[in-house]
Amino acid sequence: RIVYLNGDFLPFDEARVPIMDRGFLFADGIYEVSAILDGRLVDNEAHLARLDRSLGEIDIANPHTLGEWVALQTELVARNGVAEGLVYMQVTRGVFERDFAYPPAGTRPTVMMFTQEKTVAANPLAAKGARVITVPDLRWKRRDIKSVALLAQVLAKQQAAAAGVAEAWMVEDDAVTEGSSSTAFIVTAGGTLVTRPLSTALLPGITRQAVLRLAAEAGLALEERLFSVAEALAAQEAFYTSASAFVMPVVELDGKTIGTGAPGPHTRRLRELYLELARAGT
Ligand code: PLP
Repeated sequence: RIVYLNGDFLPFDEARVPIMDRGFLFADGIYEVSAILDGRLVDNEAHLARLDRSLGEIDIANPHTLGEWVALQTELVARNGVAEGLVYMQVTRGVFERDFAYPPAGTRPTVMMFTQEKTVAANPLAAKGARVITVPDLRWKRRDIKSVALLAQVLAKQQAAAAGVAEAWMVEDDAVTEGSSSTAFIVTAGGTLVTRPLSTALLPGITRQAVLRLAAEAGLALEERLFSVAEALAAQEAFYTSASAFVMPVVELDGKTIGTGAPGPHTRRLRELYLELARAGT
């Protein structure tokens, strides 16, 4: 397995980061994840645009142009021979003696990338639907930044794992903010697709953006607004989206069945449309 670190493609075991890396000390960095399908990156330019935005929000100069990023990713995917899976990218503020304020200008950011082989398209969970629990949203207030500070999501996902379910939806002020690593959607009894509007309270999901576009093209009624757990429980369908889950049907929330208890027609249709788009190599 070959990974990328600061200009070099290295065997996994040889890639090392110093203990004074600010990612390690302060979670002072950001990350991004693109899916790989049929050996190609899915909606990758949108992911790289979000990476650029995350870096800008925390004053790290993007170490690469869009073209350089794509070239590095493409080489890494080829070197590892990954046909289906993920490419993970991380940039931290670099290595310097521990001090909260930024290190001197010119400190080189740490850039790291690795691939993971994973079944993203033919995921068996998508056929039967995922079970989800709700947990309190314990995160900070700038969730629009894809920060590597993920302790609240680690705790949420562990609660889901302990409950034997696939995902945790985080709840704040009686509204679902998003999944621990996904965007949350419902289809109301009236057939309207509902997801939370973008703000600093949640990550602007790249898959969310594509799914909203596909839903509009398919003529589905859309509302970007907050929804409560009670409304999700009364919904006809629910699903979540992410680069790794694509469109994942939700059939149970907090032990209660959603809709018929099987993936619903709107969700199945949106998953199909998204797969078509991904395979078309957008
Ligand atoms: N929300 C959170 C908190 C996430 O961590 C993720 C992905 O990891 C998403 C939403 C989905 O974003 P995307 O569709 O860009 O993968």
